[in-house]
Amino acid sequence: MYAEEVAEMAGRIRDEDIALVRERTSIAEVISDTVTLKSAGGGNLKGLCPFHDEKSPSFNVSPARNVWYCFGCGAGGDAIKFLMDAEHLSFVESVERLAARAGIQLRYVEDDRSAPRPRPQQGQRQRLVAAHAAAVDFYRAQLSTAGARKAREFLAERGFDRAAAERYGCGFAPDAWDLLTKHLRQQGFTHDELVTAGLSRPSRSGSLIDRFRRRLLWPIRDLTGDVIGFGARKLFDDDDGPKYLNTPETPIYKKSHVLYGIDQAKREIAKQGKVVVVEGYTDVMACHLAGVPTAVATCGTAFGADHIGVLRRLLMDTDAVAGEIIFTFDGDAAGQKAALRAFEDDQRFVGRTFIAVSPDNMDPCELRLAKGDLAVRDLVARREPLVDFALRHVINRYDLDTVDGRVEAMRRAAPLVAKIKDREKRPEYVRKLAGDLGMEIEPVQRAVLAAANGQPAGGSTAPARPAPVTPSVDSPRSMVEREALKLALQEPVLAGPMFDAVEAAEYRHPVHVAVRAAIAAAGGAAAASGGAVWIEQVRDACDDLAGQALVGELAVEPLRIDGEPDPRYVSVTMARLQWGSVTGRIKDLKSKIQRINPVSNKDEYFALFGELLSLEQHARALREQAAGGL
Ligand SMILES: [Zn+2]
Repeated sequence: MYAEEVAEMAGRIRDEDIALVRERTSIAEVISDTVTLKSAGGGNLKGLCPFHDEKSPSFNVSPARNVWYCFGCGAGGDAIKFLMDAEHLSFVESVERLAARAGIQLRYVEDDRSAPRPRPQQGQRQRLVAAHAAAVDFYRAQLSTAGARKAREFLAERGFDRAAAERYGCGFAPDAWDLLTKHLRQQGFTHDELVTAGLSRPSRSGSLIDRFRRRLLWPIRDLTGDVIGFGARKLFDDDDGPKYLNTPETPIYKKSHVLYGIDQAKREIAKQGKVVVVEGYTDVMACHLAGVPTAVATCGTAFGADHIGVLRRLLMDTDAVAGEIIFTFDGDAAGQKAALRAFEDDQRFVGRTFIAVSPDNMDPCELRLAKGDLAVRDLVARREPLVDFALRHVINRYDLDTVDGRVEAMRRAAPLVAKIKDREKRPEYVRKLAGDLGMEIEPVQRAVLAAANGQPAGGSTAPARPAPVTPSVDSPRSMVEREALKLALQEPVLAGPMFDAVEAAEYRHPVHVAVRAAIAAAGGAAAASGGAVWIEQVRDACDDLAGQALVGELAVEPLRIDGEPDPRYVSVTMARLQWGSVTGRIKDLKSKIQRINPVSNKDEYFALFGELLSLEQHARALREQAAGGL
């Protein structure tokens, strides 16, 4: 289809112009608008594929070759193809968008014989975006007219000065039936274009009228900064429409994807690895101005799976580098219900979702007005894991001073804990729940297990068995530790320097730790020349009986590689070994950071945060090292 469209287009946009667009376009910049890219080595970049669902990045971009390719789903192409796929544009629209970006004036041809003439026809998207851009200018100018006094007051009362209104492009839809419509028609936009854009609508009499009247307007932009719609706030009591009115679904405005403020917030979201989801336009403005630049809001719909998709790519949400989604709620029942619904929706996100409930039922905009910028930053900083929030919410409904109340609360809370996808976290929450309820761990654990098995929770007849707790000896973690020790014992000349450089603290299994210590006590693998003498030295240096037996075992067990081990195999093995412990440390550090109030413990917070950043960098380097050759 792509090739056909190219062929079809050859007679419309001049070939040399298309070539020029390709040449002057930075593919990395274009893709970075929607996908966060990190270095993949060798000048290449990678990120999470926007065309299929994935947790680790297989979407690769080669700026040198001007192409992108996904190893996960096989999609690929140039910058033009990327825009076509990612933004659902036609070939013409993509070329036009890139040309505008690169400042290239396109020339069009009817066919080969006719002379080139400028812009006879543009793609639909570009027309609708142009109509919106003209509408923004129109509405913005209206904001300083006499009729817009109420709109200016609305902004001022909420702490937004002229500069803030300018920054967000706020405007006013005047008290008139068709001022905007006429204005845009004069600029050459057609009846159909204005209706399709959602800016105008046919009246009962059949004439075209403005969609928004006597309202304060916020332009809604997509990731790239193009205005694709408006949000409109009611200002007058005799306006019997809803409080907020948004652009209807159009070819460019899909409310399930739209996040207000994303154009201004995207760089900080990618940089900080977190996003703050608030409920309204004024809350986004208040957060940004208060120093929470990662805030966005949904527009006229609940936060859903498509929004998660948009954010995951910005957050580069992978196993190693996980983003945080923080929801702010003003503490009312509706907000809490929305938060609890996350349990039903995307389970993958439960562990990374946080709730910030503002004090005194204030939204961020009200909070900033009443208590200042610091209070808004503090609200976000005092976020709480969704699971904790949900448990507290359930437990609070019961009287824990009575036995009946405690048992009932346990029955209601156990299914929530059972739903936690990350099974490693469950015991932690069982302990926490038991503590909160003031109960023993045992019955709580039984209730959670029963709920996990789909049995009625806490019933005295439920024959719940405790889950097996013996850790698997053949875990990948143990295996890689074993492999490293085998290399040190069997191939000390080859593996010695790299092996010695990785500290004993990186090993987890106690017996492995003992053998690692014995190798160090015997003088280190790098100094050994190998053979039976070396094995004897390590065995003698080992003061752990199980360790001594293991040394003999590992000295003869075949390495898990076909053929001779080489430096790359050693490097990959040692990287995989450290990878496990580094990701464990990242997890611990994150949970520690989460418990710290960055306002009152600023120094500690930033010290830990710095440590986290360098650990994450280390983890990425290890992941690349571990991927080499396997
Ligand atoms: Zn893909």
